[in-house]
Formats: sequence, structure tokens, C-alpha cells
Amino acid sequence: MPELKKYKMFINGEWVDSEGKKTFETLNPENNKPWAVVPEASAKDVDKAVKSAQKAFEGEWSKILPRERAKYLRAIGSKLRDNAELLGKVETVDTGKLYRETYKQAHYIAEYYDYYAGLADKIEGTVLPIDKPNIQAITTRIPIGVIAAIVPWNSQMFLTATKLAPALAMGNTIVIKASELAPATMFEFAKLIEETGIPKGVVNVITGFGDPCGKALTTHNLVEKVAFTGGPETARHIIRNSAENLSEVSLELGGKSPVAVFNDAHQENAVNGITAGIFGASGQSCIAGSRLYLQKEIYNEFLDKLTARAEKIKIGAPMDPETEMGPLSNFKQLEVIEKNIKLTVEQGGKIKCGGKRHSYSNEGYYFPPTIIECDNHNLPVAENELFGPVLSVMKFDTEKEVIEKMNDNQFGLSSGVYTSDLARGLRVSNAIRAGITFVNTYRLISPSAPFGGIKDSGYGKEAGIDSIKDYTRVKTIWYYTSEEPTLDPFAIR
Ligand code: NAD
Repeated sequence: MPELKKYKMFINGEWVDSEGKKTFETLNPENNKPWAVVPEASAKDVDKAVKSAQKAFEGEWSKILPRERAKYLRAIGSKLRDNAELLGKVETVDTGKLYRETYKQAHYIAEYYDYYAGLADKIEGTVLPIDKPNIQAITTRIPIGVIAAIVPWNSQMFLTATKLAPALAMGNTIVIKASELAPATMFEFAKLIEETGIPKGVVNVITGFGDPCGKALTTHNLVEKVAFTGGPETARHIIRNSAENLSEVSLELGGKSPVAVFNDAHQENAVNGITAGIFGASGQSCIAGSRLYLQKEIYNEFLDKLTARAEKIKIGAPMDPETEMGPLSNFKQLEVIEKNIKLTVEQGGKIKCGGKRHSYSNEGYYFPPTIIECDNHNLPVAENELFGPVLSVMKFDTEKEVIEKMNDNQFGLSSGVYTSDLARGLRVSNAIRAGITFVNTYRLISPSAPFGGIKDSGYGKEAGIDSIKDYTRVKTIWYYTSEEPTLDPFAIR
């Protein structure tokens, strides 16, 4: 058996083991074999990381000129471009996600660092039209302090960039907690951050389990904001934890995103968009379009086309450039999917394709593209977030009916509409209760496009111009401008 790759954590600009040298193995989802060993952070390690971030915050980082901070952000971006291949390979081995996606994503994510570098010196304060004589009052935006960024295993380069880039641009320091399910990419990324020469302690990267690592981080009294991406159950822990340190919390959670196809849709385009939305990344995307509503006149014809496309998807090794779907990232995912499908079939759901583990490998976590017809969207596969390549399909008649159905779910992250009628596209997208709606397309991200949900999909937008302000607090400064002393000290003015 080849020797396991060994990683260390990045704390205060140094590469360290956890105290007590506790470690755990990370598995390659393609063959279910360990390939690397990583330190498991204890509460003491977390404390060390947070204190080093606090020291760096009080030191030079929050005080240097914004354009100097921007230089580090641009340097991170250029390291990403130069090392996208390496990052892509490590992420693929660790998560099972296709190399053709991880490589491209690592490269593209550089744009986020450039974008926030550009914004670093453009956040202005105000002069207040104050209602008092001899007073001038202004507001400025100050950094918050130590940020805890907690990221899941999927799209971790993207979900880290939307936190790290605005946080650093505004003068905060950060502790990033990589997911215990696939932490290696974050440590490779930390090596690149170190190469930029960024001051020690500004960026710290650790990993470990929810308890003690995640808990110690989100309750730490020096952490001022927790930027979290993950599942709703973990989010509930985080909110409870924030009662300990009164930290601000932003939450990017799960989804069960609905997509509607109207009779007048361009069908080939819709088939492609829906395929990307649910079978891209094997459906392990928080914005996966996993509930599909087809208008009744095109139901059979469209479903047949979509099924034929799904059955053509090439399953294979995630490093192979021809592969279109690789393994799921972990065994738990596979079990959750199988359980939900079994319950759905017992309640009348009809499997159109897929539905059973794929024969490509019985060692890796392979599951094929699966389409299930459901009489109603309360069946388990149509209601629960599965985080896998499983599409539930329902029929609808009118626009009003489909809007009601699309909104009838606890989540509100993403959504999609396919129609050739521009006015209907606008009407439906306005009526859908979700943070994102794609019209005649799906699965796009950009540094300038706010990303995030409503309802149980969380709160606080990431990316886009405004999210940089979420990494600042407004400070009000009052100047007394008269040469005369203030008169009555006991009357409020
Ligand atoms: P998860 O919630 O299990 O884990 C996310 C992170 O939280 C991990 O780093 C984990 O170690 C940490 N954690 C666990 N318990 C904790 C605790 N008590 N305190 C602090 N931290 C703790 O999620 P996952 O399974 O890794 O990822 C899948 C979920 O993430 C899905 O629900 C998916 O929809 C969601 N997601 C959302 C977005 C988005 O932007 N909205 C993006 C990607 C993934």
C-alpha cells in the first residue's frame, strides 16, 4: 500500500501537528481507501489559531493601507491560476469531484480575489447631516476582527473565497476550518497563501470534527463573526454556539431547488440546463435543481428526452477527462440516497432511470443519474435534500399552480424556469421564494453575483459588491467643532 500523504495545520504562519499528535485519515471516494493523514484540531489547537489571528489583527494587518492588503489578495489569485492543476488534482482525489471541474474552478476562483482586491480601497464612510450645532459627525467602516470560516467539502475553493477575500480586503484576520470529510485542498491552498508572504497569523487553516474543533471555534470569545456553509442541522449548533460569544453569524445552507419547464421552452437547452443542474458534480451541489416540474402537454416527450440524456452520461474515474460523473464523496451520502429512494418507491414513486448503486466500481461510492416520477412532491426524494444525482419529476398544468408548488418546500436557495415567453420568465422568477433564479440556464457563479438563500437555506449573501460590507462594522465619530466649552453638562444635547 502506498505511503499516506501527511498534512499539517497552518497556524500563526507555521506548519504544526495537533497537540497530542492526534490525526485522522481522509479517504479517496473512488476506491474507499485512505490516501492522506491530517491532524485533528483539539480545543487547544483552536485556541492557538484564534489567538494568533487576534494578534495579527491587533498588529499590522488591520492598519496597513487597503491597497497593500489588495496586493496580497491579487497574489493569492495569481497563485491560484499558477497552481490550479495541483489544487484540482488534490481536490479530485479527496472529494471524488471531476478533475475537469476542480481544475477549472481553482483557476476561476482567482477572479474572486481580484474582485475583492479591487474593492478594498473603495468602501467609503459618510458625513452625517447632523441636527446639532458645532458638531460634525462621520461614519467609517472598521474591520470586525477574527472571522471563523467554516466550509463543507464540496466546492470548498469557491466557498472559502467568498469568505476569505472580503474578510482580508477589509482588514480582518481569519481561521478557516476545513471539512473533516476532505480537508487536503485547504492545506495545499494554505501553502500558496504562505508563499505570498502575508503576515503570520492573518490566515490560519485547521481541520477537525464538529466537536471539539467546530464547537471550540464557534464559541471562542475572540471570534467576532462565523461565516458558515454547510447543512441546516450543523447551522442550528452554530447559532446555539454563538450565544456563548455573541458572534455574528452568516449561514449558507442546503437547498431543494425547483425547476419548471413550460410548454414553450427550448427543449434541447432545457435538457442541457437540467442535466447540468442535477447531474453536474453528481448532484452534490447546494444549488442542485433537484425538483423538476414539467407542464403536462410536454411531460412525456420531455421526460423521455431527459432520460435518454441521463442514460448517456459517462460514469468513470474522476481524473479521466472523458468522465461526466464520478463517485459521491462519502458513504453516508450513498446511504441517505438509497434510504430515500426505497421509501419513495414504497410510496408509489416510479424509477425512470438509475436508482441502484452503479456497477462501475463496488469499492468507490458510485451512484448513477437517477430520475424518479412522483405523483406529489411530498414523497421523500422530492422533499428532502439528498445531495446526490437524483431528480424528482412532477407534472403541472398552470403557471399559478407551478409557482405554488415550487414555493412549497422548507428551502429557498436556487430555482430555475425554462420558457420562451420573456414576460412569464420574469413573472415566475419574481414569484419564486428563493435567493437565486436562473431563467433558461442553470449553475452559474460569479464574483459580482450575490449568492445565498432565504427560508431554511440561510441568511447573509456571499459574493457581490455588498457582501464586503458584511466584513465591516459601522463606526460613528463625533467631533465638537466650537472653541467655546460645552455649557450644561447635565442636559442631553
Ligand atoms: P456539514 O454541515 O456536515 O459540515 C459543514 C462544516 O461544519 C464542516 O466543516 C463540519 O466539520 C462543520 N461542523 C460540523 N459540526 C459542527 C459544529 N457543531 N460546530 C461547528 N462546526 C461544525 O455539511 P457537509 O455535509 O460538509 O456539506 C453539505 C451541506 O452543505 C449540504 O446541506 C449543502 O447543501 C450545504 N452547502 C451549502 C452551500 C451554500 O452555499 N448554500 C454550498 C455548499 C454546501
